[in-house]
Amino acid sequence: PEAIVVSELANRMAERVGEVVKSLMQMGMMVTQNQTIDADTAELIIEEFGHKVVRVSDSDVEQVITQVEDKAEDLKPRPPVITIMGHVDHGKTSLLDAIRDAKVVAGEAGGITQHIGAYQVKTESGAPLTFLDTPGHAAFTSMRSRGAQVTDIVILVVAADDAVMPQTIEAINHAKAAGVPMIVAINKCDKPEANPQKVRTDLLQHEVIVEELSGDVQDVEVSAVTGKGLEELLEAVALQAEILELKSNPDRPAQGAVIEAKLDVGRGPVATVLVQTGTLKQGDIFVVGEQWGKVRAMENDQGNRVKEAGPSVPVEVLGLNGTPEAGDVLNVVSTEAQAREIADYRQEAAKEKRAAAGAATTLEQLLAKA
Ligand code: GDP
Ligand code: MG
Repeated sequence: PEAIVVSELANRMAERVGEVVKSLMQMGMMVTQNQTIDADTAELIIEEFGHKVVRVSDSDVEQVITQVEDKAEDLKPRPPVITIMGHVDHGKTSLLDAIRDAKVVAGEAGGITQHIGAYQVKTESGAPLTFLDTPGHAAFTSMRSRGAQVTDIVILVVAADDAVMPQTIEAINHAKAAGVPMIVAINKCDKPEANPQKVRTDLLQHEVIVEELSGDVQDVEVSAVTGKGLEELLEAVALQAEILELKSNPDRPAQGAVIEAKLDVGRGPVATVLVQTGTLKQGDIFVVGEQWGKVRAMENDQGNRVKEAGPSVPVEVLGLNGTPEAGDVLNVVSTEAQAREIADYRQEAAKEKRAAAGAATTLEQLLAKA
């Protein structure tokens, strides 16, 4: 039966469990916080408390992590999450590195900056920005296909000594399909043969009209080598973020997305998680894709231990029982039993799916060989 434990429901809504029990009583249901109620009753309660129900899936188990929409007053501004995309060799990696080097303050003496696939910087005007270090187009699409929409803004890098190329067009299409606004970074402007104007007019053909040509897509001339225009680019991102009015509720059980994950010989499964809503805390129990775990320790992008991570903050998480995949969604739940149950259920479902797909492949392979 579709059900949720009363305390879990209260937890999800960030409401006092006593209030939820009281509300249930008023509806004529005598239950304690440890008892389960069915999904329909839960829905009534959720509406009673002024939240909206978003069902993740129809399956019984997924009901346990039924998502609750936050009240407007609980929403606080959060930093934007930025992905850099563009054609190979146009300078994605160089730009990411240049921004990191210019902005990330080196740690304590001798401290080596830990690389966790994402980092946060602050603009000169103080706005924090989160950069994802996975510029691959494949990563972007595979994450989206796994249900994780992690990017708020795409920086489209186009080299001024080249022009719009196939992967530039691909990136434009990805961003448009995802409904993510773009900022054009016209890179390599230090080169004598650079022709930024050609980039701008090239982009017109792909319905990207930059501000310089009276459109509404911000464009900034930069050089990852000299650092020219980097601060301007960051301010453009901050401005775009302001327009987007990005908000989330930091005071609720965390939800996040796996940016990357690996099995570390010494430390076991390790995942870099971008917290999207709520605050992830040490000791939290969670499910992530087909895995579950309990946060044993967290490290931020500078390799420092942290006890909690709020919205748009990337952290490396230890304490997983298995290695999740990039794009998997992490949800904090109340009990280990729940976490285990959901992970088991998902593993079973995935196994069945794989078996079915495997059978099909084998048949195809047989036919191909015949
Ligand atoms: P990616 O494939 O998009 O990640 O491109 P890379 O960052 O690897 O850069 C490709 C090449 O272009 C490297 O040789 C970089 O040194 C060079 N490059 C990147 N940005 C600039 C720039 O602003 N100016 C110049 N002159 N060279 C650049
Ligand atoms: Mg690269």
